Parts: sequence; structure tokens; C-alpha cells
Amino acid sequence: MRAMMMDVPLLTTSILRHAAEYHGDTEIVSRLPDGALHRTNYAETWERCARLAGALGAFGLAPGDRVGTLAWNGHRHLELYYAVGGAGMVCHTINPRLFPEQVAYIIGHAGDAALFVDPCFVGLLEGIADRLEQLPSVVVMTDRAGMPASSRLPDLLCYEDLIEAAPKGFDWPELDERDACSLCYTSGTTGEPKGVLYSHRSSVLHAMAVCVPDVFALSARSVVMPVVPMFHVNAWGLPYAAPMVGAKLVLPGPKLDGASLHALIEEEGVTYTAGVPTVWMALLDWMRDNGQSLHGLERVVIGGSACPPVMIKRFRALGATVVHGWGMTETSPLGVANTPKAKHKDLPEERQIELSAKQGRPLFGVELRMVDGHGRDVPHDGTARGSLLVRGPWIAAGYYRQPDAPAFAHPGWFETGDVVTIDADGYVQVVDRTKDVVKSGGEWIGSIELENIALAHPAVREAAVVARPDERWGERPLLLLVLHDGMFVTCGEMAAFYEGKVPRWCIPDAMVVVQELPHTATGKLQKARIREMLRAGELPPVMTA
Ligand code: AMP
Repeated sequence: MRAMMMDVPLLTTSILRHAAEYHGDTEIVSRLPDGALHRTNYAETWERCARLAGALGAFGLAPGDRVGTLAWNGHRHLELYYAVGGAGMVCHTINPRLFPEQVAYIIGHAGDAALFVDPCFVGLLEGIADRLEQLPSVVVMTDRAGMPASSRLPDLLCYEDLIEAAPKGFDWPELDERDACSLCYTSGTTGEPKGVLYSHRSSVLHAMAVCVPDVFALSARSVVMPVVPMFHVNAWGLPYAAPMVGAKLVLPGPKLDGASLHALIEEEGVTYTAGVPTVWMALLDWMRDNGQSLHGLERVVIGGSACPPVMIKRFRALGATVVHGWGMTETSPLGVANTPKAKHKDLPEERQIELSAKQGRPLFGVELRMVDGHGRDVPHDGTARGSLLVRGPWIAAGYYRQPDAPAFAHPGWFETGDVVTIDADGYVQVVDRTKDVVKSGGEWIGSIELENIALAHPAVREAAVVARPDERWGERPLLLLVLHDGMFVTCGEMAAFYEGKVPRWCIPDAMVVVQELPHTATGKLQKARIREMLRAGELPPVMTA
């Protein structure tokens, strides 16, 4: 028997409409490239989105067209999220930190019909214009006074001019909730970047799922600052989740250094923020060096790479709770988040920190499987390791124009490429990327745990562990360290530091001190590049214990 309930489509447009109607005066604060703060609210943003949606049609864009953005977190980028998707087009957020040739590849592969860019990225576009088969219309996200001159891109359009010329109001189409609203390419550490095409339905369901207390715990009392860029998996869904509950939004623009973030947190009363570990390490170090503290920050969501326990401790000491989360571009991104259960409340502090360093429990809507090399399910006992598969309404079912990629070989499941353990309570711990585990004497050594331990050493600023070929064991872990200024540590001292924390045979017996480590465009350690440098003899001399 069919139920008799309304079939109202889940559309992203309805999120902003709701925010405008019931939280119209709630602020959206953006840091502009010149450092000044821009203030608007949900009511005004909704009005401007309607004008922008009208303007998109007026300059020839049609439903289904991809509209690229090259922009930092700011109010105009937020307007594009809603206007483009709501008008039936696809908002394609492009990561400007990718290599220029990757940016050109992505624009071509997506077939972007228009590009909306911050003034600071006009130079990037000029540099790749020759590589593009067809140069899309380019709109610079600024007002007339801020328009840059460009001899290579003579027909630049001005964002504020478009909005001003557009009529008030827009007849928002009633779209199918399964229509695409946004597109984001993976960072492409292996092979070309791959496009993940999100639907209105997946974006709304993901936003609803992350607001709940055991995930992001967002409300109309929250002040939310997504430090994770809006070009990286829709800033983890926060531009949808915050308006859904009427939270104030603080968008930090391009200034992501410790001093700038601290100033915004304190001055705007930020209660909640989210980003990758490297950003937080910079903030914590800046605060320590400048004798600063935090006054209203309640929660920091950390993901994208493993959050080291030492970071959880440092935030706790400042009065903020860390919520560790795991996700991928393909999973919208949130798959698991770490908050304690009632039975963990009275555990000793050290044990609580240990638990919260795991990546977390699955959100309702995300199903997990863990399989061995033969596709057999592995027990969820917190010890056995396996390859993680996921499924759910906000998990990709294929890549844009590449639906049959190997990651979709298990019918109905997406293979994440992460090696994990899952304990009896459902807490997932990421051991490594499948391609990065060290295989020593037939056993697997996960690099993340070894990196986390090294990071707790007072001399260590950053750590990476990669496999080093070994005649006897096949592979052994090589520890690469970036040290704090003026600090020094030997391989023997590090080995002693590991003693008792991991089994003896897992302790790295070789170490290299480097000035810096290579990162991907989304701030992850680039292990493939480190291994390549090791093979090519490009690393400083290896020290042994
Ligand atoms: P991306 O699609 O660029 O966001 O990358 C997704 C990958 O980042 C995952 O498959 C993991 O390997 C890694 N990742 C994300 N969150 C975490 C985390 N909390 N801990 C460890 N690795 C993570």
C-alpha cells in the first residue's frame, strides 16, 4: 500500500528560503581579501540570490549547465551555492590550490559554461587560458571599483553589475530532488581528479544529518566559522547546515593564519569551527607563542587527515571540545563523527582522549562494511583491519563522466581506499590509506598511529611515515620529521619515545629530518610524492637507530 504523505522535494533552495523567513536578521560575516569585514544577513542573501539566479539566465546559462567557482569562503560564494543550484544549474567549486594544469583539466572535463572568480584568481585563469579548448564567460566576484584589468581576458564581467541589473525576485523552479546541484573534484593524488556530482536530495539529507547533537550540534544559537574551504566538498556541508538551523555564519576569506582566525573567533563570538589539522596546529602554536586563549569557542570539528591526540588535549585545555570526523569528497563528506556515548562519561581523561582520537561512529544514513583482500567481511572487534566500504543517500554512486571507476566495483557500495578497524561500539579508526600502509614481514603497520605518537614529542612540528624497501622485511617504516625551530632529536631518542606505545617491531628504525613535507591541495600529506623523493634520493641522509 502506498503511503499518503506529501512528496515535497528536498531542495537546497528551501534551506535558504527557510533561513530568510525565520532567521532573516541572522548575520553572515565575511572577511574580504583586504582584511575588512562585510556584513549581511539571511534575508538580504536570499534577495540577492534571487537576482543572481535571474542574472544567470539572462546571460545565457541554462538548466544543467555547470558554473565553476574559484573563490574563498565569502558571502558571494554562498550566494552562488544557492542561486546556481536553485536555478537548476550545477555549482562546480574548483580548488585553486591544485596545479594549474589540473585546474584546466577540471574546467574542461566539467565543461563549465561560466566561471565566477575572486579577483585574486584572475591571474590563475590568465595562466591557463591557452589550455582551455573554450574559454567560458568569466565573472569577477567584486564590485566595479574592485575590477582588475586583464589584457588576456578582455571580457571580464562584474558580479555586482550583474546583480544590480537583474530584476528583483525569481521564479524558483520546482526541481526534481535527484537533480544535480553541485560538483566537486577529488584532489587527484592518484590519477586525474574525479568529479563527484551531488544532488539537492543528498545535500539536504547530509545537512540534516550533521546538525544533530552527536555530530556537529548546530543550532540557532551557534556561530559557525567554516575554515574548511567552500571549494573542498562544500565546506563539509556547513553552508547548508548553518542556514538550515539559523546559525550565524562567519566566512574567513583567504586569511587562514593563526592570528587572523583567532581575531575572528574572538571578535565574532565563534562557538563552532571546522577544518583540517594543519590549520589548527598553526592556530594553537600562534596562540601559545602570543600568550592568547579562547573565550567562547565550544567545538572544533577536525577531519580530512587524522587528528593527533595532542591536538585534542591542547583544545581541551582551552575549553573547546574536538569532534573528530572522517569523510571524503565522495561521501559529501561526513561518514563518521566522534562523540562519546553515555558509558564513556566517567572514563579517566586519558582514556577519553584516546577514544576521541578515533575517527568516530557512523551517522544515521551511512552504512559501513569492512572487507579483507578477498572481499570477505572482517569482524568489528576494534583490532581486525580491513578495507572500508560505505553506502548511503549521500555517498557517490559513480564519478561524473566516469561511472564505472574501480571504486564502484562492489555493487551498491563505494570502496573508500582506507584501511580501518571498527570496534564493537561502531567507532572507526583509520589505520592508513590502502596504498600507504607499510607491509613489514607480512604484517601491516599503519602510518597514522606512528605519526600521532611522533607529534606528541616536544621537538616535532610535523611527522610522516612511509614505507622504505627493506631486504629482510620487505618494507620498514621510515619516519620523516619537521622539527620546531632550534630543536634537535636523534633516531635513538625517537625510538625510545615510541617504546611501550606500539609493539617493538612497529617502531621506525630509520628517520629523516626535513625542512618541510609535501602536501596535497587539500592539506594532506602527499605520501606518494615522499616515496618518490625517497626512491630518487631527493631526501636528506637517512639516520638509523
Ligand atoms: P578527500 O576526498 O580529499 O576529502 O580525501 C578523503 C580521504 O582523506 C579519506 O579517504 C581518508 O584517507 C582521509 N581522511 C579524511 N578524514 C580523515 C581522518 N579524520 N583521519 C584520517 N584520514 C582522513
